[in-house]
Amino acid sequence: MEKVAKRVKQDADYIFHELTRSICPECKTVIDAQIIIRDNKVYMRKRCPTHGWFEGIISSDAEMYVNSIKFNKPGTIPLEFSTEVKDGCPLDCGLCPEHKQHICLGLIEVNTACNLSCPVCFANAGIGYSLTMQQVEGMLDRFVETEGDPEVIQFSGGEPTIHPQILDMIQAAKDRGIRQVMINTNGVRIARDDRFLEGLAKLNPVVYFQFDGLRSETYQTLRGEDLLDLKMRALDRLNEAGLDAVLVAAVERGVNEDEVGPIIEFGLKHPAVRGVVLQPVTHVGRHIDFDPMQRVTIPDVIHGIVDQTNGRFVLEDFVPVPCCFPTCQVNSYVFVDGDKVVPLPRMLDIDHYLDYITNRTLPKPPNSADVQKALEGLWSASAVPGTEKAAGDFQCACGPGMDLGYELSYLKDHIFQIAIKDFMDAYTFSVKQVMKCCVGILVPDGRIIPFCAYNSVGYREAIRDQLTLEQAKAPRPAKLQSKV
Ligand code: SF4
Ligand code: SF4
Ligand code: SF4
Repeated sequence: MEKVAKRVKQDADYIFHELTRSICPECKTVIDAQIIIRDNKVYMRKRCPTHGWFEGIISSDAEMYVNSIKFNKPGTIPLEFSTEVKDGCPLDCGLCPEHKQHICLGLIEVNTACNLSCPVCFANAGIGYSLTMQQVEGMLDRFVETEGDPEVIQFSGGEPTIHPQILDMIQAAKDRGIRQVMINTNGVRIARDDRFLEGLAKLNPVVYFQFDGLRSETYQTLRGEDLLDLKMRALDRLNEAGLDAVLVAAVERGVNEDEVGPIIEFGLKHPAVRGVVLQPVTHVGRHIDFDPMQRVTIPDVIHGIVDQTNGRFVLEDFVPVPCCFPTCQVNSYVFVDGDKVVPLPRMLDIDHYLDYITNRTLPKPPNSADVQKALEGLWSASAVPGTEKAAGDFQCACGPGMDLGYELSYLKDHIFQIAIKDFMDAYTFSVKQVMKCCVGILVPDGRIIPFCAYNSVGYREAIRDQLTLEQAKAPRPAKLQSKV
């Protein structure tokens, strides 16, 4: 009798971490997705019945990814939902009653047109629609109805500064008592238009300022032209006008990963800059070719900062944000006074207050409820640097024993925020994260759609087509003039 070779069972080369729902990057069908860990990295792996298997990296540091889960805070439910549960997440946005968190940061994309045509543009700016004042007022009213006391509204686009009524829109948000109003801009109009800048300064929004690095080549690649001088001029003009700016960088593999440290160092020194937001490029809309296995992820950016800032920061200075899903965003804060730069996590054990799972039963020091509330204010998608609210939370977080002894009006200009946000694309999209998303895009029909669902699932394209068509059918308006 022939001898049969003994077969040996093999171990998989990965750990199966969990199961979630995602979409097919080709046809957007909702499918199951596995989260797996291999070589201390985290990947999403999924199969579409029509288009086969897909895999993409979601975190380059599995330890950081798994540890972040303890920062998952119970959600706060909005006052009202706008849709019903029908087809399941992410097809019922929104917000539908299954959503686990209210909206900390509301976005209004006032137009699709832009004065740049960046090769990297998740909004795929170009021909489309321009919202009317009436539409924007309706969206703001709906935001107030669903939130009660909305924290932050950000005007975006396209390029919002070229909308003829953008100043009226900012005013309309302020008139509704929305605590913080921001404008998201490429800075072109700020660099060139004195009258516009004067109008903006009167309204005093925080300027969310596209700023990808300190090299001309970075702008050539990401924005299609050398914008470095223009960016510097715009920032100096913001300073002269007394406006606060947050630098927002899109970080792409092989382009500007080595600039995350220099961007922070630059921001710490520039008098108009109150913070830096570093966002790995979101590969939706318009983007350059990419390999989903080589995406930049949050740990890449944190390691980059630590490596590129001469010992100023350590890994522990960066703490996940608990209001959204904690793998979505990390924040840090520093107190800056001349050459003195002290990260808040060195003054206080942040984990002790924001660990919602492992720490629950440990004794807390006196005033811990106030400190926790202040830290939740800072570690939130609604935290806006350069405001007295952020300064007050920072002061309170430091505790009575460590009172910095400054007036809030002084302190607000000396608190610097660093935020790292990893928006999802069709390779990384997970309902687990989007169900707790706290960044919502307001739509004229009253819906508020979580940002990553809006960009990845097909909402953006459908809503843009619908608004463009409605505008084409509407009677042509008289030439619009700003009233502000
Ligand atoms: S993302 Fe939220 S609002 Fe959208 S379908 Fe899922 S649970 Fe509902
Ligand atoms: S990324 Fe911003 S600046 Fe560039 S084309 Fe898109 S909307 Fe315009
Ligand atoms: S926008 Fe995307 S990355 Fe940000 S909180 Fe929402 S789901 Fe998470």
